[in-house]
Amino acid sequence: MTESRPEFIIEGRFEIDPSGETVTLLGSRCTSCGALQHPRRERCFSCFDSALQDCSLGSEATVWSRSVERLGLVVGKPFGVCWAEVAEGVMVQAILDGDVDDLPGIGERVVAVPFTLPESEIGGPYTTFAFRSKTEGGT
Ligand SMILES: [Zn+2]
Repeated sequence: MTESRPEFIIEGRFEIDPSGETVTLLGSRCTSCGALQHPRRERCFSCFDSALQDCSLGSEATVWSRSVERLGLVVGKPFGVCWAEVAEGVMVQAILDGDVDDLPGIGERVVAVPFTLPESEIGGPYTTFAFRSKTEGGT
């Protein structure tokens, strides 16, 4: 099997799990106040200390809000977007993968999956991540 490393749209925000089917979000934990943050930072957003340790924020999240971007910019077709809580108050904005007429609802658990942005005027194709309903596909 020939594998080539995908080109991430932004490096260091996530890693693709060995199965290739889910993504682990990467963050930082402040050793002074304990705040978690995503993406990784040089200084804590809460206490501004620079004593941060890299950590994993896992793959699952809870949807807090969602909308549909009907112009389909960058993705090439209408797509869902959401703010989801991944861990202890860490909110992440991401694409919602799936049918825009059947998006995960507020409070629903979702899982982060690799998502390919097609080639466009900005370059690509690029790999980023999206959230997908946990009930879709038996996950
Ligand atoms: Zn802190």
